[in-house]
Amino acid sequence: MPFKDLVINLVSKFSGPLNAQNYPLDYCIPLYHTVSDQPLPHLKHLYRVKSEKEFEKDLDYLLKHFIFAEDWQSFTKSKKSGVPVGKKVALLTFDDGLSEFLHVAAPILERKGIYAVNFVNPAFVDQQDMLFRCKASLLVEKIQTEQADLKLLQSISGLQNAGVQEISHYILKTAYKRRALLDLIAESIGLNFTEYIRVNKPYLDLTQLQELKSKGFGIGAHSWDHPYYSELTVDEQLETTFRSLDFMKTNGFLQDAFAFPFTDYGVSKSFFEQMYQRYPHVYSFGTAGIKTDSFIQNLQRIPMEHDAAATILRRETAYFRLKAPLKKNLIIRK
Ligand SMILES: [Zn+2]
Repeated sequence: MPFKDLVINLVSKFSGPLNAQNYPLDYCIPLYHTVSDQPLPHLKHLYRVKSEKEFEKDLDYLLKHFIFAEDWQSFTKSKKSGVPVGKKVALLTFDDGLSEFLHVAAPILERKGIYAVNFVNPAFVDQQDMLFRCKASLLVEKIQTEQADLKLLQSISGLQNAGVQEISHYILKTAYKRRALLDLIAESIGLNFTEYIRVNKPYLDLTQLQELKSKGFGIGAHSWDHPYYSELTVDEQLETTFRSLDFMKTNGFLQDAFAFPFTDYGVSKSFFEQMYQRYPHVYSFGTAGIKTDSFIQNLQRIPMEHDAAATILRRETAYFRLKAPLKKNLIIRK
């Protein structure tokens, strides 16, 4: 275990159970992608997916400590006018517009009366395409479970003598701008992404997004097709951001909600200034845990899939307290 994790674990053990008073911010924004009891090969090699039971347990824990925002308006209102002392607001968020949100998560959330926003990439709505990382996961799954033509994979990757593990690692590290390589590998090993998408329908369709909206859920923007912003110029970052926000506006979804794909790490001051020129009221979301940002409309969320909510929030709180004297909890954009 890395030294940093050891220290955080130790501090979180001695800091006692979490309660609304010792949670450091007046809001908590958990982030999930999907919930499923079924195996999902397109996500399997990317992150852990919580089961329905694990998800419900997380929600019950969060319900004990926070008041969930009833809808988007009540959340943004709480950001503008503050929340009453002693109350902490939670906004539940999902990324990537995956279909289990409608079939699995929404019924649980409706039963518990919890609002959530799903941040969607318009490029994948109606099963038009698939996030390049999901393609990488499918490739790795095929290579690891079926007899792979190692010689062919070695020659495509340029990794002479590489084994299955090394080639899997290479595939999973593929950059957004080199994503055409994934289609090439798929073709050469007989994996048909179009067929997988057609049969498995991993994404929500436009009519399903509208159904979710009519059930009271929020649909927000998540860039056009989920690039790494670190690979893009500021103009390219703005283009994919605006294109996704414009899609939400055109289709009557949330016009002022945007979640950065992957991370907002390193996104510049200039990006935010130009984004606010066109969308002055937008709230944007990163994935850096409990942190604040020099742009107060940019809010950090807590990734929830790697452990139980109770453990994650305790660790996040401990980590925040550890860094407080070092003034490392505020992200300053340059
Ligand atoms: Zn995403």
